Amino acid sequence: MPVGLYQTTSEGRILDANPALLQMLGYPDLSSLKAINVTDLCVHAEGYRRLQELLLRRDGKMRGYIAQLRRYDGSVIWAETCSRVVCDAAGQVLYHEGAIQDITERRSAEARIHYLAHHDDLTGLPNRVMFKQRLEQAIAEARRYGHKVAVLLLDMDRFKTINDTLGHDVGDGLIKAVAMRLNGCVREIDTVSRLAGDEFAFILPGLAVGEDAARVAQKILDEFAQPFWVSGYQLFISASIGIALYPADGQCVDTLLKNVDAAMYHTKEHGRSAYQFYAAEMNARAFERLALEHALRHALERNELVLHYQPQIALDSGKIVAMEALLRWRHPELGLIAPMQFIPIAEETGMIVQIGEWVLHTACAQNKVWQEAGLAPVRMAVNLSVRQLRQPNLGQMIERVLQDSRLEPRYLELELTESMLMQNAEVAIPALKALGAMGIEISIDDFGTGYSSLSYLKRLPIHALKIDRSFVCDIPADHDDAAIAMAIIAMAHNLGIRVIAEGVETAAQQGFLVDHYCDAMQGFHLSTPLPASEAVRLLACA
Ligand code: C2E
Ligand code: MG
Ligand code: MG
Repeated sequence: MPVGLYQTTSEGRILDANPALLQMLGYPDLSSLKAINVTDLCVHAEGYRRLQELLLRRDGKMRGYIAQLRRYDGSVIWAETCSRVVCDAAGQVLYHEGAIQDITERRSAEARIHYLAHHDDLTGLPNRVMFKQRLEQAIAEARRYGHKVAVLLLDMDRFKTINDTLGHDVGDGLIKAVAMRLNGCVREIDTVSRLAGDEFAFILPGLAVGEDAARVAQKILDEFAQPFWVSGYQLFISASIGIALYPADGQCVDTLLKNVDAAMYHTKEHGRSAYQFYAAEMNARAFERLALEHALRHALERNELVLHYQPQIALDSGKIVAMEALLRWRHPELGLIAPMQFIPIAEETGMIVQIGEWVLHTACAQNKVWQEAGLAPVRMAVNLSVRQLRQPNLGQMIERVLQDSRLEPRYLELELTESMLMQNAEVAIPALKALGAMGIEISIDDFGTGYSSLSYLKRLPIHALKIDRSFVCDIPADHDDAAIAMAIIAMAHNLGIRVIAEGVETAAQQGFLVDHYCDAMQGFHLSTPLPASEAVRLLACA
């Protein structure tokens, strides 16, 4: 193999080079090479500088490193270099000299070998070796951040029959088609790999709850509902899936693989085309959650959702100034379900957009009915979810609802939680400005539980802060909570924002709030959330 040889000054100016080096680097002649510095050749000059530092020890030793060099035409080669310093008898540096070999081809062959060793050649998916490495990484990360990792093992049902009856070419074609489809149903950060034959495995890192793995498993099973077309055959095939979770079902790669295997065989025994968790109690939990999700899909059309209304009073006059609409689900078997139990599911599945619109519409229409019945007009406070805030057409939707219900915008108030506002401030600021311009009031819910940036608070078009219940429940006895409540009131008033206390349950709490000039309050001390038919009576008394 041709070896390029060179001499340079200590500053890197090229003194001499052999024809092999000129050819390797594509320079037309020696003078053009002499015109540049060695650092001009290096794609990453810091590697060269580090080498220089070593060479300056002047021990005459050969030192080498692998570098990327830029050729005359701009293309880049990988080079293995070694060089040394040549000194005279007095120890004065005469010049540097060295040899360079072009190893570009060797490196790409190594990369190819690495690829082949880590991928399945039929499908191009990561193979078992790479799967294990990735799982190792995912576990390390999950340990650091307290996440869960799900491992799913999928085995096609009756694959052998297809192989035996239609031949291996069709079998291979089916494996490829399945691989393509599976790749399409996971997130970018997930890994899909082919472990062997008709066995595929998935790594789902960064999960908050184990039930999320069930959702992915169901999605994968749904993919098998459509037939596969291979060499003109229409193939209907199903799959069985096992699920094991880090850390509950195993702390290391081998245990997780062993347990996910057991879970998958369990599924096969229980009738295939399904999934099973390794831990039995997860099956029940995931089932419950999916059943709830399924039922929620029909809750709207079956009229199972209802709103309850909780009054807010002004502390100076004692008059009701607003009603907050709070969602309830009247489940045919489970009874009344609180929003915290189903709103997270509605958010995850996107159903919240439709449900949220229904809430808004129902609440605005209700408020108009009360006004038309001659009751003193109050604001209707409606809670918005993050997902709704991110909807690009939120403003238009609200405008339409207001038109349909003929409610004046000033009688609508939107509540957004502090954490959701701060985490989405860049989307929220323009969206809220637009809503504010329509004349709608905006308040920050659960204030004090998130981390507010005061500069955002100033920039957000906010009319009110709601002090979170957790700070209200221990006043006036708890001095810290009392101090926090007082600080929130003072800060808000200085910014020209109203303050309302949530979760007021006692007369002592109310007294404290009155003493410290809180503007309004809401809580069981006044009234629990009530169905419309009962809420109307409160309005009539006011
Ligand atoms: P939130 O907006 O902070 O609503 C106040 C919650 O505190 C309500 O719970 C209410 O019943 C409860 N509460 C009121 N006063 C007291 C009190 O004195 N003591 C105690 N212990 N609790 C009190 P709820 O109805 O279960 O709602 C919980 C959360 O669900 C709401 O918190 C809100 O974030 C969310 N939510 C409710 N309805 C909707 C909705 O239509 N859309 C959206 N996106 N979220 C909603
Ligand atoms: Mg609220
Ligand atoms: Mg709240």
